[in-house]
Amino acid sequence: MANLGSPQNTIAILQKYNFRFQKKFGQNFLIDSRVLDKIIRAADITPEDFVLEIGPGIGTMTQYLCEHARAVTAVEIDRNLIPILEETLGRYHNAEIICQDILKMDLARLAEEKNSGSPIKVVANLPYYITTPIIMGLFESHMPVESVTVMVQKEVAERMQAAPGSKDYGALSLAVQYYSLPEIVANVPPHSFIPRPKVGSCVIRLAKRPTPPLPVEDEKLLFSMIRASFQQRRKTLANGLQNAPDLSISKELAIRTLESLGLNPNIRGEALSLEQFITLSNAFSHDK
Ligand code: SAM
Repeated sequence: MANLGSPQNTIAILQKYNFRFQKKFGQNFLIDSRVLDKIIRAADITPEDFVLEIGPGIGTMTQYLCEHARAVTAVEIDRNLIPILEETLGRYHNAEIICQDILKMDLARLAEEKNSGSPIKVVANLPYYITTPIIMGLFESHMPVESVTVMVQKEVAERMQAAPGSKDYGALSLAVQYYSLPEIVANVPPHSFIPRPKVGSCVIRLAKRPTPPLPVEDEKLLFSMIRASFQQRRKTLANGLQNAPDLSISKELAIRTLESLGLNPNIRGEALSLEQFITLSNAFSHDK
């Protein structure tokens, strides 16, 4: 079985199995070996690593991962791809295929079973319709993870990496940067895939932070505040917080707290850094 990272070999295997793409699963298969090389290099896979791949498709990237890692578990939702994967990965004894919805898996248990609870590396060309739930699920699952190297829609990658004050900065930037240090490592055009997606793509590496940038007293409060601040982008932060039903922070308390931290009481959420959001939420957590 030849390596898959070329249009000819991908088309040949798809035709052999009479495979039909399912839009609902966000299926765009990589056919560019230079992009595959970049992903593997960015993910820094070594022969000691256990790798979780989400959505292997026909196994193009999985083959690369198996060549470099100790063991690879690939979780694919589409049962029509399983016979194909059995063929394309047949020669790799370090590959395991699981037919499941990644959002329904117990990831902490997987890391425990496959890597004795040590941090794992996640690599994926993600289905774009569920990028955010997958990434947040990985970070919130308490699965030990070292890094997440993923292909995502360009616009989403830019939001994840955005800094305060930029137009892309928002709740997603803060949530991702709370758990990790993001770095866009490659731009990938639509013609690197079959079928071509309508949007540009990026490979982004999220290196998991060992701890948040500052100690946080009440994580739930922090994330509620972040959500409330960006739900009404054009409002001041004090107004946004006052209007959030789950927070019970009055405008007066919001203004007093902002001033006590040396911040302008008319500041908007989009101007605040993650560290400032944490400091502010810790101050509210004392006052409540
Ligand atoms: N890794 C392959 C590649 O690069 O050519 C395929 C990438 S394609 C963008 C996304 C893959 O994720 C598809 O194979 C799709 O069937 C699978 N997928 C979609 N939703 C999934 C889910 N909830 N759980 C696991 N796999 C999923």
